[in-house]
Amino acid sequence: MFGESYSLFRILGFEIRANVTWLFLALLITWSLAAGFFPFVYPDLAPTTYWSMALVGMLGLFFSLLFHELSHSVVARAYGLPVGGITLFLFGGVAEMTAEPKEPKVEFWMAIAGPIASVVLGVAFYGVAVTMEGLGVPDHIAGVARYLGFINFLLAAFNMVPGFPLDGGRVLRAALWHWKGDVVWATLWASRMGQGFGLLLVALGVVSFLGGNFIGGMWWILIGLFVRAAAAAGYKQLLTQQALKGKTVRRFMTTDPVTVPPETTVEQFVEEYLYRHDYDVFPVVRDGRLLGCASLRQAKAVPREEWRQTRVSDVCQDCGDVNTVDVDEDAGEALNRMQQNENGRLMVTEGPRLVGMLVLKDFLRYLQIRGELEKA
Ligand SMILES: [Zn+2]
Repeated sequence: MFGESYSLFRILGFEIRANVTWLFLALLITWSLAAGFFPFVYPDLAPTTYWSMALVGMLGLFFSLLFHELSHSVVARAYGLPVGGITLFLFGGVAEMTAEPKEPKVEFWMAIAGPIASVVLGVAFYGVAVTMEGLGVPDHIAGVARYLGFINFLLAAFNMVPGFPLDGGRVLRAALWHWKGDVVWATLWASRMGQGFGLLLVALGVVSFLGGNFIGGMWWILIGLFVRAAAAAGYKQLLTQQALKGKTVRRFMTTDPVTVPPETTVEQFVEEYLYRHDYDVFPVVRDGRLLGCASLRQAKAVPREEWRQTRVSDVCQDCGDVNTVDVDEDAGEALNRMQQNENGRLMVTEGPRLVGMLVLKDFLRYLQIRGELEKA
């Protein structure tokens, strides 16, 4: 969603990634600590001292975000939910869950684990600060630990705001879900609270901006917009999952896909398939059996003067898991996979045979019609 992410290391079996936008946050934090916060609280120190303190502060924040997300991930895994990894990005961290909890109790413990971890870490940092001061360590060094203690309490407090997708919003959703037994209704209200909170942040950001705090104001406006969008998306995603529940790929596929016979030459493939249709990847089929996939990329790899002699069967490749789906697979699963391969199509197979094609457009049309009917 925010461009490229880089894998940093693995911890407790989770892959830790940093998005390119995290670099921006790291620089902003370091700069505002070195040039603003620390000089204000501890005046008359050398600039190099401020920058060292800021660097430690930034690394401490990195550790704090990681600790928070790790606690979500560990609890999720303990309940058997798959966790993709942890990514740090512009607005903090996110533990990537590829499945939603099936009952409110699991949701509650998964969500509350993060703020609890942050409070524990906050107390630990304060403990370190107080111990340092007791041992006669200079004020400004203990001050970094004190700052990190404060940051962890702030993280816990912000995340406990009862609006989805924040942790507090998930706790609220779990409570409403437990109370009424209706996950859609619970998500709707948690999402509305989240959207409201997002708007509130935007409003506070605007006031702050107009008051002359340009960077701080912009920052709150950005976070507010992000929370608002994520809150709305969370609800939509749940509706989609509910609508597709219990349905398989068979229900949505088209059964007469455009296929390429293996003896087609590359020249014919380009003229009669690539130019005429809207897609980049085509199934190569003989007697109903899927032999492989032919694509624009493979055609381009053949020198133009060889297009007449080369057959598609010579250049086509295995379609791979990202482009194929079994006819009896769960439709929601297929939709997830389709959003990953980015061409909006999947070849539907039954054993070695190609039985159809799954197109994103058809899914969206189904969901849209269903949505219209439910509104009525
Ligand atoms: Zn959290």
